[in-house]
Amino acid sequence: RYGSSAPTIFSKVIDKSLPADIIYEDDKCLAFRDINPQAPVHFLVIPRVAIPRISEAKDDDAELLGHLLVVAKNVAKKEALQKGYRVVINDGTHGAQSVYHLHVHVLGGRQLNWPPG
Ligand code: 5GP
Repeated sequence: RYGSSAPTIFSKVIDKSLPADIIYEDDKCLAFRDINPQAPVHFLVIPRVAIPRISEAKDDDAELLGHLLVVAKNVAKKEALQKGYRVVINDGTHGAQSVYHLHVHVLGGRQLNWPPG
């Protein structure tokens, strides 16, 4: 149902044709370390289904979208981010999205600033 969009590099992470440091996976999603980390801990949580961006998610994907957040916080706990962390979804050009396969960023391990640039 999201079939019209072009595959991205994250499709290759999902099918394991591109190596990634995968730290969690289940039947619905994967979490792996960002290749260009912006904090000591920086990982991405992606659904297996290739939703291009959050603004194109269907309302009835609510359970999957919720699952991504549950996984984000569970992996953050495993990564010992008890002092806190940031969860970010970039959407589109103004949101500085570069990979059009929905992903949740989790950043931590240092003091982050707000507001972001
Ligand atoms: P966006 O700007 O779309 O929200 O974030 C895309 C993120 O994916 C960036 O932080 C970028 O470093 C990361 N990324 C892009 N290509 C790869 C890759 O091949 N492997 C991994 N692990 N991360 C990637």
